[in-house]
Amino acid sequence: MCTHYIDSFADEFGPEKIIHIYEPKSKLRAIVAIDNLSLGKAIGGVRMAEDVSTREVFRLARAMTLKNALAKLPHGGAKAAILADPASKDKEKIIREFAIAIKGLTDYIPGPDMGTDERCMAYIYDEIGRAVGLPRVLGGLPLDELGMTGYGLSIAADVASEKIGLLLKGARVVIQGFGNVGKAATGFLMQRGAKIIATCDSKGGIHNPEGIDIAALTEYKARGGKVAESGLGKPMGNGDILEVESDIFIPAARPDVFNEANQHLLKTRLVLEGANIPITHEAAKLMHDRGIMIIPDIIANSGGVICAAVEYQGLSEADAFEKIKATITQNTQELLARVTREKMPPHEVALKMAKERIAKAMAYRAHM
Ligand code: NAD
Repeated sequence: MCTHYIDSFADEFGPEKIIHIYEPKSKLRAIVAIDNLSLGKAIGGVRMAEDVSTREVFRLARAMTLKNALAKLPHGGAKAAILADPASKDKEKIIREFAIAIKGLTDYIPGPDMGTDERCMAYIYDEIGRAVGLPRVLGGLPLDELGMTGYGLSIAADVASEKIGLLLKGARVVIQGFGNVGKAATGFLMQRGAKIIATCDSKGGIHNPEGIDIAALTEYKARGGKVAESGLGKPMGNGDILEVESDIFIPAARPDVFNEANQHLLKTRLVLEGANIPITHEAAKLMHDRGIMIIPDIIANSGGVICAAVEYQGLSEADAFEKIKATITQNTQELLARVTREKMPPHEVALKMAKERIAKAMAYRAHM
C-alpha cells in the first residue's frame, strides 16, 4: 500500500481515521476525518459543499482537536464533508443517507457547519441518535440564534482590552462579515459601549464613524437587503473595509483574509478572530511585531463548540453562557500572560497550549 499521501499530514496527534464514503446507488459521496480521541468522543461539524478535499477535511478536524482541547471539553476533534450542493432539493434524503453511512462511527458526534443547520442535525439524530446543534424542541441549544460565538468574542475582548489598556466604552469596532458570528458580536460589544463603525457582507460594506445603527441594519438584512445598499453608512468595497482604522477588528467571514502581502493594511489595536484561520501565521507574526494584539480563533471563537458540548451533556442555556465565559476568560488570560513571558506570538502560544493538553491526555491512553 502506498502510505505517502497519509504520511504527508499524519503526525504525533493523528489523524486516527479518514473515511471516504461512496454509495453507488444514491451516489452519496462524503469524507469523515476523526483526528484525535484522547479527550473523548470527537465533536465536529458536517460541511455540505461540492468542492471539499480530503486534506481540507483533515485540517478542519485538526482545528477541532485543538479547539476542543483548549476549551477543556471532554471531546476530541473530527470533521465531515458531504460532497453535494447545499441547495439541493434532495437535501433531507442526502443528509439521512449520510447519517446511515456514519452510524458505525460511534466515536464521532456530528454538528452543524457551512451548508448544514439544526434541521439537518435533527435528521441525523433521527437516524442514528447522535448529533449536536439540534433544534430546541429536541433539547438543542441553538448556538447561532443565541449568538454564542459572538458572546465568546466579547469575553475575549473584556480580558484583552484590559491587558492592552483599551477602553471598550467608545472603542471603534470594524466587523468583516455581518453574519451569525459578526452580528452577535456587535450586540455584545455595544452592550459594553463600543461602536461599530464599519461592517460588510459578501457584496460590500459601509463605514460610519459615528457608529452604525445596528438594529436598523439587522432589520434591513432580514428583509434580504445588502449591507452596502442599506444607506446606514458610506458604501465601500470589501477590500476597503480592511483598511478602516479601528481599535478592534473582527474577521467573521472567511479564511486567509490577511496574508504577508496585505497585512500592513490593518490599522487596529486588537484582533478577535471570529472566523477560522482569517490571518495566516506569517501575517500574524508581522502584525504582532507591529504591536497588534491578536486573540487566535481556537480561543476567541470557541463559544459555539462549547455550547454544543454543553448541549451534549444535557445542560441548559445558562450553563452554556457560564462555561463560555469561564473558559474564554481563563484561556485568554493564560494566553496573554504566556505571550509576555515566553516572548512568542499569540498563535504559537495558543497552539502550544492546546498541544500540551492533548499530549497530557494521550499519556493516559495505551491505545488510540
Ligand atoms: P455566516 O454565513 O452567517 O456569515 C458570514 C458573513 O460573511 C456573511 O455576512 C457573508 O455575506 C460575509 N462574507 C462572505 N464572504 C465574504 C467576503 N469575501 N468578504 C466580506 N464578507 C464576506 O457565517 P457565520 O456562521 O457567521 O461564520 C463566519 C465565520 O466564522 C466562518 O468562517 C465560520 O467557519 C466561523 N465560525 C463560525 C462559528 C459559528 O458559531 N457560527 C463558530 C466558529 C467559527
